[in-house]
Amino acid sequence: MPSISLLINGESRGASTGASFERRNPLDGSVATSAPAASVQDAIAAVEAAAAAFPAWSATGPGQRRALLTKAAAALEAKAPAFIAAMAAETGASAMWAGFNVHLAAGTLLEAASLTTQINGEVIPSDVPGSLSMGVRQAAGVVLGMAPWNAPVILGVRAVAVPLACGNTVVLKGSELCPATHGLIIEALQEAGLPPGVVNFITNAPADAAAVVEAMVAHPAVRRVNFTGSTHVGKIIAGVCAKYLKPVVLELGGKAPLLVLDDADLDAAVNAAAFGAFANSGQICMSTERIIVDEKIADAFVAQLATKAAGLPLGDPRKGPVVLGSVVDMSTVQRCNALIDDALAQGAKLLCGGKADSTLMPATLLDHVTPAMKIYSEESFGPVKAIVRVSGVDAAVACANDNAYGLSSAVFGRDIARALQVAGRIQSGICHVNGPTVHDEPQMPFGGVKGSGIGSFGGAAGIAAFTDLRWVTVQTTPRHYPF
Ligand code: NAD
Repeated sequence: MPSISLLINGESRGASTGASFERRNPLDGSVATSAPAASVQDAIAAVEAAAAAFPAWSATGPGQRRALLTKAAAALEAKAPAFIAAMAAETGASAMWAGFNVHLAAGTLLEAASLTTQINGEVIPSDVPGSLSMGVRQAAGVVLGMAPWNAPVILGVRAVAVPLACGNTVVLKGSELCPATHGLIIEALQEAGLPPGVVNFITNAPADAAAVVEAMVAHPAVRRVNFTGSTHVGKIIAGVCAKYLKPVVLELGGKAPLLVLDDADLDAAVNAAAFGAFANSGQICMSTERIIVDEKIADAFVAQLATKAAGLPLGDPRKGPVVLGSVVDMSTVQRCNALIDDALAQGAKLLCGGKADSTLMPATLLDHVTPAMKIYSEESFGPVKAIVRVSGVDAAVACANDNAYGLSSAVFGRDIARALQVAGRIQSGICHVNGPTVHDEPQMPFGGVKGSGIGSFGGAAGIAAFTDLRWVTVQTTPRHYPF
């Protein structure tokens, strides 16, 4: 059983109180990890270490930051086997999902490395004679990043990579459900040679989350916060950030619709729907949660999708390759079982899968879902997905928008002009025409609207989020004053 440490000012250590907490494997309950339960004092020490490291780190040249982030990408990639083992032990994830996580996270570090020379500004014409007037992007200070367990390598790296590239120092708060997985990211960054205090790591017992988070947000050195997780906790964190006037990027829940229009390429739509719905057992913020299909082609599409979903391999990821591993905990099973019961009681038709009595949950599809059923609007965050039949494009768009979330979406149709118009009408931060709802690349503006959050990570959007835009002038000639 791995036992992990906090990282404060380059020093690996336990909690000052000596307290720890355990993460257990979702399938057999064996202890996967023992991690320090940081106190509020430990969290403040992490922020203060980051604050002390900020002046020197923010003054480094872009070449130095680029070299270190590039090395970190290689160090992370080299840990792929350790990540695969840690994710299987802590969250039950398949090796395929863990490997993809490491690969995309390494790409995120490389993209951040390339951004170090893109943190630029502009010269803005001034009406004051002789005034050289500039808009300049500058590192903000300490950035607090909080990442979830479901895509733990991608999202843990995303929480710190662009902030570091911009010259900020960071504190990563790991998830209580995968402290060792998040700890491996920190190890990779340390191995790359980032100076002490530039990256700090906090893990906390679940009961201490609110106090630890508020103490860090409240600290004057913390100048930006980012949180990826549920909309429920995101709203709490938004409230704390509002109290201390801290800008925050929130990447929250989703209920992504995939629209299958009457002229869609059915093979392509089926493949995208199966991948988007069941990758990582549906535990992805971009997961295809609602398959909205035109009734003209619904019977053919549904039959093909059900056959594909029923054949997806399911099992303990520690014993061999699977598509669906274990879901993260029994509360996911209970939530999904309740969604199935509710839908079936109100007339939905079960196409494949069904209720589970362990965290090994089969790919499950419910057809003829209506707005009265909970699964029409609530995030399942598991391998249980809804099919809604509609008549025509306007009904498909109305159904897509009839939801509190707005992260990812997709439209399938051969008439690209029509599909693109539909994409333009969907209320979401991300929309893919003839591609799956699950698609992420580090250089893209990734973010949601409505209940899915505020702000974006990635590329220029990430630089805007994690720098201060300052107005700086130089008076180059004598200036005229009125008195
Ligand atoms: P969660 O919201 O339960 O997150 C738990 C985190 O919140 C932990 O770090 C915990 O310490 C902290 N927390 C809990 N209570 C708190 C409080 N009162 N004050 C401050 N912090 C508190 O989410 P999760 O289960 O880890 O992740 C799953 C969710 O994340 C899903 O809804 C999913 O859609 C979403 N998600 C979004 C994205 C995205 O990019 N938009 C990506 C992945 C996951």
